[in-house]
Amino acid sequence: MTGPPLRPTRAEVDLGAVAHNVALVRDRIAPAEVFAVVKADGYGHGAVEVSRAALDAGATWLAVALVEEGEELRRAGVAAPILLLTEPPPDAVDRLLAAGLTPTVYTLEFADALRGAAGGRTVPVHVKADTGMARVGIPPEEWGEVLRALAGRSGLEVAALWTHLACADAPGHPSVRAQLERFEAVRRLAADLGLGRPMAHVGNSAAALTLDRHFDGVRLGIAMYGCPPSEALARAADLRPALRLVTEVAFAKRVAAGTAVSYGHTWTAPADGWLATLPVGYADGVPRLLSNRMDVLVGGRRHPIAGNVCMDQVLVWTGDAPVAAGDEAVLIGRQGDAEVTAQEWATTVGTISYEVVTGIGPRVPRSYLPR
Ligand SMILES: *Cc1c(COP(=O)(O)O)cnc(C)c1O
Repeated sequence: MTGPPLRPTRAEVDLGAVAHNVALVRDRIAPAEVFAVVKADGYGHGAVEVSRAALDAGATWLAVALVEEGEELRRAGVAAPILLLTEPPPDAVDRLLAAGLTPTVYTLEFADALRGAAGGRTVPVHVKADTGMARVGIPPEEWGEVLRALAGRSGLEVAALWTHLACADAPGHPSVRAQLERFEAVRRLAADLGLGRPMAHVGNSAAALTLDRHFDGVRLGIAMYGCPPSEALARAADLRPALRLVTEVAFAKRVAAGTAVSYGHTWTAPADGWLATLPVGYADGVPRLLSNRMDVLVGGRRHPIAGNVCMDQVLVWTGDAPVAAGDEAVLIGRQGDAEVTAQEWATTVGTISYEVVTGIGPRVPRSYLPR
């Protein structure tokens, strides 16, 4: 780019809200520690800025999905411990160690790649057991074999044991208790094999908000950004949404009753009235499935999306309410007393708020409200 953004569309991130959400969860789970999960560019909010806000608000760890994400934080000068949540390809070990990331380990192949690259230094690792998510982690049939082998490997220090819950966002789901029981079995096994009682962490946002046992830490993602983990938990805590998706009306006009609008003419003006065009579209993360199914805030009130969402533009019917180019339009967030949440978008299109916020594309500049 050769200058500041020309289009008014932006994602405004309130770092004070991030700090509020971290502090709220930290108070709930203390003395367990908060691992601030900042993968996927901080769920679309900006990994570096969110990391700093979360650490200032009491998080003690960060967690990322990719080595590259950890490297970005280190380049920005972030010094806090960073957990890598999955094993990267074995070729990544040199860069992982150079960035000072704490690896998750669940295969002996990766453990040996780490030892080989560490050149005699002892590498602290967090060992992940699969207790029922069946994604990554030491499978139950291999717990004994892999833990025994890790106990016998020099050069690695098992600093933590952890697992991940599949259904914590569905309060009362029977798998949660079953996974916790299996996790206790892994911990006993590790102790019996001479690994002692390393740190233990299990919970995600949903577990942090609903369980009363948090072991030594919680890996806090979506709730830190102020979104509930699921619709069922929409009122589980006083979370503050950190992100507003904001733009300005680019073009406005009165149309006559019966005017058909946008690709496919899926919407027709029910009366004479005002139609606004917003400079934001599905290429920015506004799902086309929101066509004719979601409201946008203009003038402090909700107004419906009219017709099909386009790649770069969205039409909004304000009816009797006059609208002009330059008026602020809020797609996600508050305007006056009105609010549209990421969860509302998610429910409407049949997904989760995680996909909504991470779907806000790189074409949308992020701006930051000071804490
Ligand atoms: C993404 C992730 C989290 C964070 O989950 P939230 O539901 O966003 O709190 C925690 N643990 C692991 C392993 C993850 O991949």
